[in-house]
Amino acid sequence: MAAPTTTHAENTRDTADAVDLGPAAALSCRECGERSPLGPSFACQACFGPLEVAYELPEGDPEALRRRIAAGPDNIWRYAPLLPVPADAAAHPSLNPGFTKLVKAENLARELGIEGGLHIKDDSGNPTHSFKDRVVAIAVEAARAFGFTTLSCSSTGNLAGAVGAAAARAGLRSCVFIPHDLEQGKVVMAAVYGGDLVGIEGTYDDVNRFCSELIGDPIGADWGFVNVNLRPYYGEGSKTLAYEICEQLGWRLPDNLVIPIASGSQLTKIDKGLRELVRLGLVADKPYRIFGAQAEGCSPVARAFKEGRDVVRPVKPDTIAKSLAIGNPADGPYVLDIARRTGGAVEDVDDGQIVEAIRLLARTEGIFAETAGGVTLGVLRKLLASGRIDPAEETVVLNTGDGLKTLDAVAETAGPSAIIRPDLDSFREAGLA
Ligand SMILES: *Cc1c(COP(=O)(O)O)cnc(C)c1O
Repeated sequence: MAAPTTTHAENTRDTADAVDLGPAAALSCRECGERSPLGPSFACQACFGPLEVAYELPEGDPEALRRRIAAGPDNIWRYAPLLPVPADAAAHPSLNPGFTKLVKAENLARELGIEGGLHIKDDSGNPTHSFKDRVVAIAVEAARAFGFTTLSCSSTGNLAGAVGAAAARAGLRSCVFIPHDLEQGKVVMAAVYGGDLVGIEGTYDDVNRFCSELIGDPIGADWGFVNVNLRPYYGEGSKTLAYEICEQLGWRLPDNLVIPIASGSQLTKIDKGLRELVRLGLVADKPYRIFGAQAEGCSPVARAFKEGRDVVRPVKPDTIAKSLAIGNPADGPYVLDIARRTGGAVEDVDDGQIVEAIRLLARTEGIFAETAGGVTLGVLRKLLASGRIDPAEETVVLNTGDGLKTLDAVAETAGPSAIIRPDLDSFREAGLA
């Protein structure tokens, strides 16, 4: 684990009392439980463990809280009472992500033999077409509270676009870092919002290491890196996926969730969100299983799960699922804990299975997923085949991004059925009549 970096921002600002992030009360260490004041820090001063947000959540009548949420806007700000944001966050300039569709996938369920219900939580409908808009919106609120004027990140592609767009809307400067060899759709989307985009010759893990150095340097002292020094806040944005899924199911828990893993942050925070809903009485308690999904070309967590290890050994990524290509996932060990504790699993699929799954989802439900959605659906198929997921149970599969950003993955297998002259004979000859 990286040593905690004391930033210039921490040295010069008194962030302890001045910060209003709503119900967020403190940061607490996931390893030793040590508490520290809300600020732009991400590693425990006592044991170097990762920090997360601790809350004083609203107690009392769950029905009143459900009504308050339902009366809120159709985006993540409806859950502001459960997030580390000021009460008036909805009034700040934001892309207002969230409340994406939960699609009842009846055609796909029939094809896969699922009788207990199958839903796709389709986060391609977010403003920059991936789930990352959720986490960035929360990080922007933290950046604002801590007085950062430049927004930054290390990204596998989608995050760079989400940060660029959110910064543009919030009137902040942005400078984001990606591996130089990403899909064109992601590079263009990261650059078009007018901030600075820097391609780094290396993998995501190299990019991430570079960003940690930058934070320690005076250059980066006043920069809010959404997934580094703002990571505890950023992560909380993923809880909104848990809230939405349960609210859209009529305030109840599903039996199984299939969630993609890059750093593992999203998966761990969805679990945190589900447990909060139970604790607040917003959903009835019952067992649920969390399944993590990786691409075989970058599956350090799936390997550790299958080999019964607690230690996640870093790998060098080689997969078409570039948004998930993190070889050294920060939250890997916590993902293993959650999969084991809930009776779930972590599984992986190869690139061919990813493409097949993208096409299957498009053909059955009219949803065009990016490679990460191919990973989750591919993994669902594998888990059904191995009997780990029971087709009599209700399952929610996440699609976290839009297929338009990863066209290359399917370009070879999806093209015109025929190219003809504009006359009827030519069409008849093509055998499609
Ligand atoms: C970033 C990302 C994820 C998951 O990210 P975590 O680091 O595990 O939180 C999943 N899907 C897509 C499309 C992403 O861009």
